[in-house]
Amino acid sequence: MRHGWVREPARILVVGGGYVGMYTALRLQKKLKQELRSGAVEIVVVTPDPYMTYQPFLPEAAAGSISPRHVVVSLRSVLEHCHVIVGEVVSVDHAKRTAAYTTLASKDEGTGPAALTYDELVLAPGSVSRTLPVPGLAEFGIGFKTVEEAVGLRNHVIEQLDIASSTRDPAVRDAALTFVFVGGGYAGVEALGELEDMARYAVKYYHNVKPEDLKWILVEASDRILPEVGPEMGLYTIRELRGRNVDVRLGTRLESCENRTAVLSDGSRFPTRTVVWTAGVKPSPLLAATDLPLTDRGRLRCTAALAVDGAAHAWGAGDAAAVPDLTAEEEGTQCAPNAQHAVRQARTLADNIAASLRGQALTDYEHAYVGSVASLGLHKGVAHVYGRKLKGYPAWFMHRVYHLSRVPTVNRKARVLTEWTLSALFKREIVSLGSLERPRAEFELAAGPVPPEDPSAPPAGGPKGSP
Ligand SMILES: Cc1cc2nc3c(=O)[nH]c(=O)nc-3n(C[C@H](O)[C@H](O)[C@H](O)COP(=O)(O)OP(=O)(O)OC[C@H]3O[C@@H](n4cnc5c(N)ncnc54)[C@H](O)[C@@H]3O)c2cc1C
Repeated sequence: MRHGWVREPARILVVGGGYVGMYTALRLQKKLKQELRSGAVEIVVVTPDPYMTYQPFLPEAAAGSISPRHVVVSLRSVLEHCHVIVGEVVSVDHAKRTAAYTTLASKDEGTGPAALTYDELVLAPGSVSRTLPVPGLAEFGIGFKTVEEAVGLRNHVIEQLDIASSTRDPAVRDAALTFVFVGGGYAGVEALGELEDMARYAVKYYHNVKPEDLKWILVEASDRILPEVGPEMGLYTIRELRGRNVDVRLGTRLESCENRTAVLSDGSRFPTRTVVWTAGVKPSPLLAATDLPLTDRGRLRCTAALAVDGAAHAWGAGDAAAVPDLTAEEEGTQCAPNAQHAVRQARTLADNIAASLRGQALTDYEHAYVGSVASLGLHKGVAHVYGRKLKGYPAWFMHRVYHLSRVPTVNRKARVLTEWTLSALFKREIVSLGSLERPRAEFELAAGPVPPEDPSAPPAGGPKGSP
C-alpha cells in the first residue's frame, strides 16, 4: 500500500458524529481493518454528543411513537475500532493539520481548547437552524433539529393542554392552545402533523378541552409546502392538513413573536406560547473557523469526489458541504442538504480516502434524488418515491417501512419495531415529563433556599494568589 502519511499511526480525524461522520467512520473501520489492526492507522471521531441522531424519526419521537433513546445510536458501541471524543471542534488550521477542540472537562481544567493533529480530515459538522432577525424569535422560538428539542416540544405541547385546562383566563387558554410552526419543509410539516395528531388524541382525556379548541398554524414564505414530494403531493398535503383544521398560510412570513404574539406578514396576530422554527438550515458555524475554502453560502467547497477543493487531505460531505450534483440538468447545481445524500456521500467519501491511501483513482459521487416519504401523523402520510405517488395510509406505511430499513443497527430496528407494535396494541402515551428538564427542583425545594452570597466575601477558591 502506498503510504502518503507522515506519522505512525496515521490519524484520520472525523469531525461530527452525525450521518456523514458515523457512516464514514463505520465504513473506514471496515475498509481499513488491517491497517487499524496493525496500528498503521487510527480513526478519531470528535462530536459533541456520544450518539448519532436519526433525524427523520424526530417527529415520531415528538409524538411519543418512538422513545427518544431509540432515535439515537451510541457511537461508542458501533465505532468499536475508533476513538470517540465527546467534544466540539472550535477551529481547524488545515495548513498545520491541527484542530482545536473543547470537551466537557475543558472548563474545569481551565486550559482552553486542546490541539489534535491529523493526517486526513473529514469535516462533517452538518448544519444549524437558519434563523432570521425576527423580533422575539431568539427568546421564544423552539427549534426542531435535535432529540432534546423533539422531546422538549412534546412535553411543552402537553403542558399547554394542562395550562388551558386549568386556567380561568380565556386569553391564557387561547394562547396556550395556539401552535405556530414556521417553515413548510419536511421537518416543519412532519413535526406539525405528528404533534397535531398526538394533541387531538390527548384532549380526549381532558374534560374541558376539545379538538376544535386547538389552533395550529403553518406559516410558509413560498407558495408551496413539502417541495421534497413534488407539487402534486405538496397540494395534497395542504388539503389534508386543512381538512384537519390546520391553518396553512402560504406566501406568508413571521414578522415578530415578541410578547408571545406571533405577527404574520398578512397582518394577522396570534397570541401564542409556541413558535416552532423550522425555516431551513445553514452550514455549521465551525466552517468559518477553518482555513478551508467556502462557497458564498458558507458551505465547504468540495469536488464531486468529496475532496475539499484545492486542499489536499481534507474531505467533506453532507449538510456542511457544497457537492456538485452530477445528475442535475442545470450546471452548477449542488446536492441538497438531506439524509439521502449524506448517507451515500459518506460511503463514497470513505472509499475515496481508502483509495487515495492505496494510490488508486477516486470515484465521483453521483446520485439522482429518488424522492421522499413523509408522515403526517398516525396512519397518515404522503410519498413520492421512484416516480410513484402515494398518500394516506399506504404512504404512511411506506414511510415506516423505509425508515425502519434505514435506521442504523439491527438493535435499533428491533427496538423501533417493538415500540410500533406495542403502540398499535395499547393506548398512546400522553404524559408530559417536562420536569425531567429540571431534575434538581424537588431536592432544591427540600433543601430550602440557598443563602444569598455575601458580597464582601472573597470569591470561591480564596483571593487571587492565596494558597
Ligand atoms: C426533523 C428532521 C427531519 C428530517 N427528515 C429527513 C428525511 O425524512 N429525509 C432526509 O433525506 N433528510 C431528512 N432530514 C435531514 C437530514 O437529517 C440531514 O440532511 C442529515 O442529518 C445531514 O447529515 P450530516 O452528517 O451532514 O449532519 P448531521 O447528521 O446533523 O451531523 C452533524 C454532526 O456534527 C456534529 N457537530 C456540529 N458541530 C460540531 C463541532 N464544532 N465539532 C464536532 N462536531 C460537531 C453534530 O453534533 C452532529 O453530530 C431531516 C432533518 C430534520 C432536522
